[in-house]
Amino acid sequence: MRIIIFGAPGVGKGTQAKILANKLNIIHISTGDILREAIKSGTELGLKAKSIVESGGLVPDEIVAGIIRDVLNDEKSKNGFILDGFPRTIKQAEILENIFHELNIVNFYLVKLEAADEIIIDRITNRLVCSSCGNILNKEAVTENFVCPKCGAQNSYIKRKDDDEEVIKRRLKLYREQTAPVFNFYKDKAKIVEVDGTQSIEEVTKEILDSLNL
Ligand code: AMP
Repeated sequence: MRIIIFGAPGVGKGTQAKILANKLNIIHISTGDILREAIKSGTELGLKAKSIVESGGLVPDEIVAGIIRDVLNDEKSKNGFILDGFPRTIKQAEILENIFHELNIVNFYLVKLEAADEIIIDRITNRLVCSSCGNILNKEAVTENFVCPKCGAQNSYIKRKDDDEEVIKRRLKLYREQTAPVFNFYKDKAKIVEVDGTQSIEEVTKEILDSLNL
């Protein structure tokens, strides 16, 4: 199964993508995670992306498209994948169309999660991320000497640099201007599933799986 998970930053794409990848035994490809990992390890890609990611901007199309081309051509994507955070511009969608064409990929789903900006801002400003495994929790759940329920790391929950309120507002603005139009691009190309992202994590997962007939 091939899925593009789509929606504003903070709407729950990463959380749902991880759950779905696990359940469906497909690979989760998050350009945001790949970029953050590169920044952490100080690779050439990380050095190029650092200031852009931390200020809430968009990394140039050719760079992210190159990452996606490599991963989709890899053996581990053959069983299916869930793309999270890509494509984010019409140009990226066009490049992805070429990659799908090269790989003979015709059938895929676009799962769109929706939520109002106020809910997203509230969610993002209150979320912490495990620096070890990427798990996301509300800051109220994270106490002193907290042990990550997913990977067991201790005191590993941090605020992402791009989760600052001003940065979030910029990311949402870029989403409305550059990413939201990508949805129309896919209207006649993908099987579309639209889900209310303000429901609980479990409800959102269930609605997606039901819509995918799984
Ligand atoms: P995310 O975790 O998907 O919210 O991504 C975090 C940040 O990584 C974004 O705010 C961008 O700076 C960068 N990024 C991730 N995916 C892309 C993409 N497809 N195009 C451009 N920049 C991206």
